[in-house]
Amino acid sequence: MTRALSGRAHDAPPGFPRALPVRRRPYRNWVDRIHVDDVWTCSPRTAEDVVALANWAWSHGYRVRAAGEGHSVGPLVLTDRQPDAQRVVLADTRDHLDHVQVLPGEAPLVRVGPGASVRSLLEHLARHGLALPCTTGCGEFTVGGALAVGGHGTGAAAPAHGTMSDLVVALDAVVWDAASGRYAVRGFRRGDPDTAALLTHVGRAFVTEVTLAAVADHTLRCASDTTALSGEVFAAPEAAAPRSVAALVERCGAVDVLWFPYSERTWLRTFEPAPVRPPTSRAVTGPYNYPFTDHIPEAVSRVVSRVVGEHPRYALGLGEAQHAASVAGLAATASADLWGRSKDLLLYSRPNVLRYAWSGHAIVTCRAELQRVVHDFAVRYRELRDGYRDRERYPANGPVELRVTGVDHAGGPTLSPVAADPDHPHWDVAVWVSVLGFPGTGHAESFHRDLERFAFDHYRPPYAVVRPEWAKGWGYTTSAGWADAAVLGGAVPAAFGASWNRVVTRLDALDPHRVFGNPFLDRLLVAGSGGRT
Ligand SMILES: Cc1cc2nc3c(=O)[nH]c(=O)nc-3n(C[C@H](O)[C@H](O)[C@H](O)COP(=O)(O)OP(=O)(O)OC[C@H]3O[C@@H](n4cnc5c(N)ncnc54)[C@H](O)[C@@H]3O)c2cc1C
Repeated sequence: MTRALSGRAHDAPPGFPRALPVRRRPYRNWVDRIHVDDVWTCSPRTAEDVVALANWAWSHGYRVRAAGEGHSVGPLVLTDRQPDAQRVVLADTRDHLDHVQVLPGEAPLVRVGPGASVRSLLEHLARHGLALPCTTGCGEFTVGGALAVGGHGTGAAAPAHGTMSDLVVALDAVVWDAASGRYAVRGFRRGDPDTAALLTHVGRAFVTEVTLAAVADHTLRCASDTTALSGEVFAAPEAAAPRSVAALVERCGAVDVLWFPYSERTWLRTFEPAPVRPPTSRAVTGPYNYPFTDHIPEAVSRVVSRVVGEHPRYALGLGEAQHAASVAGLAATASADLWGRSKDLLLYSRPNVLRYAWSGHAIVTCRAELQRVVHDFAVRYRELRDGYRDRERYPANGPVELRVTGVDHAGGPTLSPVAADPDHPHWDVAVWVSVLGFPGTGHAESFHRDLERFAFDHYRPPYAVVRPEWAKGWGYTTSAGWADAAVLGGAVPAAFGASWNRVVTRLDALDPHRVFGNPFLDRLLVAGSGGRT
């Protein structure tokens, strides 16, 4: 979502809070798949402004959408060309709700406004000798946006963490107050019955401040390896080798795997604690140390996308080319072996990467099954990729990205993709898989649908469970994402077990007038559809 767009200031919806400037603006998300030509947009300065906005919206039949950077791929802020968008007000949190403050006290805590970027939060912490124990790989979106969806990075070393949402110890949200019959700001602490619903709410709430648990800053080493083939990385457990995913996680703790399209080549990045700079590592002092991947102007991304769209077979050469470019880029920038503060290594992907539409799923399992989970995925992915190719269809024109984290704590964010499951306390790791592709690629939805159906059918308890990565693509029909009724109303609620109904009911109670929602969330977050099949 761009900030610098012009807008008209001379009108406002009827009865709109006078103290809050509001303009009509176009909205489009990062991947350019969600467009709304004209939507009322304001920038609340305080939580009280959000309260005034919510009460106005409730009494005038409008809805409010908290908006960050618009980096979510799917319809979480607005739906594409949302029919009732004229009765929506976007509340852009980035302009004013962006404070960051380290709290005094024994335990390192940081209080942050939802509009602060993840990067600015990490930079502020670093100035105080602190860090987060887990963070997203890109820091250019808002804390509120990352928490809403259960933002994650990579890393499963003990004590393993799942999502950033699980780091929240307290939060303020604007919720319905039955006693006064109005919306009001309320504070929630970990352990309060409603808090677990608000830690990851997919956009069904408005959070105005959070307090996160931090840790002492530490240094990491990130080593790249571009020589491993997918056969080794995703080997069957009985054939696993030192560069198989489970072995890398065991040895280093954190791994990011890129598997290039129509190729068996990979780029492995491992992250491990290194208090002292290893002699072969280059010290870095800032984030995003792979400039050859993330300095791609949007126009270039569009051209590549269009060329591959018009000549789908070109996708067959993309993987080898991307691999060669990565090898050359790592050498040219001396980035194959880096050492530095945690934020400078864990933030490694800027938004100016190629603008792919990403699918996203988390497969929650136990450590002993980790290699089998990734092997099964790779086997099916390869079968589908090659089967489509044999029919001269080339939907898989971007890499597969795979990361591994722990799961969230019991009692943590209920709607987190890696929420703990009381029926399966042995599940302690999660494989996050994204399949990337240029937006609009022919047969992409079909391909994603086949892969997603496999995942929901194959990864079943007690082996594993699959949940959607909310901000990415999922719920595929043969022509669209976020659309399959069986996934939205069946597979997804079932993946959360009995807690689905509880959490949806809690979110409804906190916002009974559905001020904070949109047509997609109305369809998704329905009580009564939960429970395991
Ligand atoms: C290049 C790139 C890299 C990415 N890397 C990662 C990654 O490493 N790990 C990961 O987990 N994800 C990653 N993502 C996805 C990203 O975390 C999510 O899309 C996130 O939601 C983006 O935040 P945003 O500020 O853009 O939120 P938006 O897209 O603007 O909003 C997303 C949702 O959050 C809600 N929201 C925002 N603020 C608030 C608030 N104050 N209160 C309540 N709800 C709120 C919105 O209403 C909406 O439902 C990446 C995305 C891109 C484009």
